[in-house]
Amino acid sequence: MLLSDKIKNTIRNIQDYPKPGITFKDITPVLADAGLVREMMQQLIKDYKGQKIDAIASTEARGFIFGSVLAYELGCPFVPVRKTGKLPYQTLSRTYNLEYGTATIEMHTDAIKPGWRVLVHDDLLATGGTAVATAELIQEAGGIVAGFSFIINLSFLPGEKNLEDHFGVKPHYLA
Ligand code: IMP
Repeated sequence: MLLSDKIKNTIRNIQDYPKPGITFKDITPVLADAGLVREMMQQLIKDYKGQKIDAIASTEARGFIFGSVLAYELGCPFVPVRKTGKLPYQTLSRTYNLEYGTATIEMHTDAIKPGWRVLVHDDLLATGGTAVATAELIQEAGGIVAGFSFIINLSFLPGEKNLEDHFGVKPHYLA
């Protein structure tokens, strides 16, 4: 079976979470399948090994799971992008619209060196708002957005198009 189908078949759909009318994609059954996680990680490493990536920036909290392992495997720094008030040092900040509500995310001012090529990784691409805000933080810090990586793309939402329109980069996703 294709890796994308394995992931899609393993994800659990939760109706009306976190709000009525939203179907939430729950990735915890994927995390519970060690063999599938290994296959996904190996695919991500294959996709990015040898590319010029100076750091990986991931958004709290599910982005950290695969993003930090990918950074370890590529031998590059991991940059945590966190919800407001969580990072202890000076931060850059962005407020943006979510599929449900608004959110503010922050990144340390010294997390990225000017000119670094930074890959944005998150678990799921929906409207693209989180990824755009993360990429804008990278650019504000003087970094270059090397690409976008996701586990899942919700293809019925305009995230993919938003990222292409804003950054001229086609996002990469496993499923
Ligand atoms: P976007 O900003 O609209 O693209 O939403 C993506 C962000 O919201 C990511 O950080 C996801 O972790 C989170 N998110 C949105 N919808 C879901 C979902 O159905 N399952 C898991 N995470 C989601």
